[in-house]
Amino acid sequence: MQQFQCYIDGRFGNGEARFQSVDPATGAAWAEMPESRKADVDRAVEAAHQALHGGGRWARMTATQRGKLLYRLADLIAASVPRLAELETRDTGKIIRETSSQIAYVADYYRYYAGLADKIEGAFLPIDKPDMDVWLRREPVGVVAAIVPWNSQLFLAAVKIGPALAAGCTIVVKASEDGPAPLLEFARLVDEAGFPPGVVNVITGFGATCGAALTAHPKVAHIAFTGGAETARHIVRSSAENLASTSLELGGKSPLIVFADADLESAANAQVAGIFAATGQSCVAASRLIVERSVKDRFLEILAAKAEAIRIGSPLSMDTEVGPLATERQRRHIETLVAASLDAGAKVVTGGSAPAGEGYFYRPTILDCDGTSAPSLDKEFFGPVLSVISFETEAEAIELANSTPYGLASGIFTQNLTRAHRLMKAIRAGIVWVNTYRAVSPIAPFGGSGLSGDGREGGLAAALSYTRTKTVWLRTSDDPIPDPFVMR
Ligand code: NAD
Repeated sequence: MQQFQCYIDGRFGNGEARFQSVDPATGAAWAEMPESRKADVDRAVEAAHQALHGGGRWARMTATQRGKLLYRLADLIAASVPRLAELETRDTGKIIRETSSQIAYVADYYRYYAGLADKIEGAFLPIDKPDMDVWLRREPVGVVAAIVPWNSQLFLAAVKIGPALAAGCTIVVKASEDGPAPLLEFARLVDEAGFPPGVVNVITGFGATCGAALTAHPKVAHIAFTGGAETARHIVRSSAENLASTSLELGGKSPLIVFADADLESAANAQVAGIFAATGQSCVAASRLIVERSVKDRFLEILAAKAEAIRIGSPLSMDTEVGPLATERQRRHIETLVAASLDAGAKVVTGGSAPAGEGYFYRPTILDCDGTSAPSLDKEFFGPVLSVISFETEAEAIELANSTPYGLASGIFTQNLTRAHRLMKAIRAGIVWVNTYRAVSPIAPFGGSGLSGDGREGGLAAALSYTRTKTVWLRTSDDPIPDPFVMR
């Protein structure tokens, strides 16, 4: 069993209890993790609070110095890609092909925020009083609690840690109890980079005993959460205790709309990327294909051939394209939802079952849901299952696209420029990809609306969201203050 530790106040520890982590490719336990509960949470938040407000090194650093530390962290991540990628693949089943490239890109996210640290500016106000100078300082919002799910933990943590540190905050990161290995290993790089103790703390544990204590902690000022909508409701309730601000990045039921004039080969590749990459365990999964009726059969033929050619196997092999789901619970959820959808009249185009053998694998699956109200059309699978419906008119395509309470991502495939412009305005989603899908960048904000949450991660605005403005009034007159009974 490999052993992992949590990182609180610059020290590594074993947590208040230990739990085992399972390798989803085999179903066997492979590592022991530190389980943090209330006492660890209290220590971690206290350490973060002290690092920010105790007058220590972090609070005295210039923004440029903070940026240099972030650059150092980025370099250490870039130098540790093989180790981090192997740990993430081992602990979550995400294929090594993607963990390697994604973690290399995570280093670029830290570089982006490193460069941004000393570009977060205040403002001088053209105030309407001649004897006053008034300006805005941008100050760190306070101690941040970051809670992430098991898919892409290093990436989802980077889009919180990067902007929070650039803004001068301190942070307690709670890794998911499912697959925490890469984030716990990442803490070693934070330590090596030379951040003062308490600036970044990394713990893991269960939602009810660790996450709940962290999000309700009186010294937490901001909660950055990525996960499911039901958990988000708990978190918002917790924030009623400390009145922390929240940023919520939740799930989706994102549509990919394919018009008859689209490059069908390219659209099919986008659809494969959208639903089968990461074994469909992606918040932006294009889980609803909305295809123009005249090309539906031809498109499904191309798509099914691609789905059936996908190489399923060990996530540690560079050849594998679809690995296991992260947990047994996740596979059961998918099996239940597929069965309910078939009961509701959906038809299997391909897949629809788990292959024999060990591990939590599930075949890339396409369900034809035309003429049904199968639950697969509005429930999130978080797995490799695509639901297909067809349309005849552009208005119908828009209505179908907007027919869920989610609003995270969307894709449009058409060669018609004016139609693409009409659709990108009409679709309710935080991201619209036109003739492409599943592209991200540190420069581009990311987030949704409705059941998909309200957060925006990435880009300059994300760093600003970890700051508060302080308004400073300075009177420039040497005359005594006039009439003290009248507000100036
Ligand atoms: P989840 O909501 O079950 O868990 C996420 C995290 O919340 C875990 O760390 C968990 O321990 C913690 N948690 C659970 N209960 C808690 C509580 N009461 N208080 C505080 N923390 C608590 O999500 P999951 O099943 O791990 O991940 C899948 C979900 O995440 C999907 O819905 C997916 O779409 C979403 N997701 C969204 C994005 C995005 O950026 N929008 C990205 C990735 C995943």
